[in-house]
Amino acid sequence: MLDLEPIFLAVRQAAALCKQVQLARIVHSVSPQSTASSDDSVPLHTAAVPKDGVASKSGAEPVTLADYGSQAILCRAISRAFPDDAIIAEEGAAVFKELINEADQQAVAEWVGGVLETPVTVDDIVKWLDHGQGREAARTWVIDPIDGTKGFIAMRHYVIALGILEGGQVTGGVIGAPTYPTQEGGLIFHAQNGSGYAQPMAGGAARRLRVSARKTEAELLVVESVEKSHASREIMARVRERAGIGAARVQHLDSQEKYSMIAAGDADLYLRLPRMNSTRPHMIWDHAPGAALVFAAGGKVTDVDGTPLDFSLGKTLANNKGMIVSNGLIHDQVVKAAQEVLKEL
Ligand code: AMP
Ligand code: MG
Repeated sequence: MLDLEPIFLAVRQAAALCKQVQLARIVHSVSPQSTASSDDSVPLHTAAVPKDGVASKSGAEPVTLADYGSQAILCRAISRAFPDDAIIAEEGAAVFKELINEADQQAVAEWVGGVLETPVTVDDIVKWLDHGQGREAARTWVIDPIDGTKGFIAMRHYVIALGILEGGQVTGGVIGAPTYPTQEGGLIFHAQNGSGYAQPMAGGAARRLRVSARKTEAELLVVESVEKSHASREIMARVRERAGIGAARVQHLDSQEKYSMIAAGDADLYLRLPRMNSTRPHMIWDHAPGAALVFAAGGKVTDVDGTPLDFSLGKTLANNKGMIVSNGLIHDQVVKAAQEVLKEL
């Protein structure tokens, strides 16, 4: 069995860095763009030059210095513990070098060096950011160093997410959730060999994950994105209504914390149904880590027609339209409702 301790340590270090960056800089630096929400036409990964040296933007998709610091820490840990593994990660060295000014590159190296308690250079960061990319390997790590960057910038929720792929299938994952609602200091979730666990970020025993057994409208909790551009609130409301759960509580939450909540039995249904005019592909790092947890906890993760998500295509889930994630008990009725509603659009 894979020893995930080095990854848990890296997630704790990445979470510490995220907190430091957030407190030191993000709080004072949210640009007007960073809460913009209509970003379908914007190409991915074309971050704008950071004006204030803190949070930079890709026209609409934000990237912060903490995204780079977190990814460098995670990729470094994988390079040491699993040197032959491949990595598919959201950020990359090319954009870091091109668009982050020298002072901010240096700041990232210092933050990373601070949490690793060892001197780190900008060259180290550049090397770690791209480690394992473009490789064929038996095992591939899928990394979102800060999932929910918009939430991170706005001081809402975010996670640090890693998925494990083998043979094009999701076989494991680790999600650090510093903002998890039920645990002071947050939780680290992981899935391995078909079982799911949660341990306190601050240290302590892990407990097994199990999805909820709730199925009646009155007791269900549905989770959906905060960002209105990321999914259609209108279509999702119609699907809930059609599925006979129109009165269920709905909580809006950034990031794959939503998958974690389903896996932990803290929520029952996560809907992600794109807006009608959306042309943005679903990115693998937004789903593989979370799906691993839900599978391991006995839940279901499918496309809108009930078929499995296809994680074998690289960076995007090009074959998939949307996501229905549940405790399993209410899955079929929600898929049926989604099919009916989508046909009528
Ligand atoms: P969430 O907070 O669940 O909406 O997830 C955050 C993720 O949504 C980010 O990591 C982005 O990769 C992704 N995202 C950004 N813009 C869009 C969009 N227009 N449509 C769907 N997903 C998006
Ligand atoms: Mg993400």
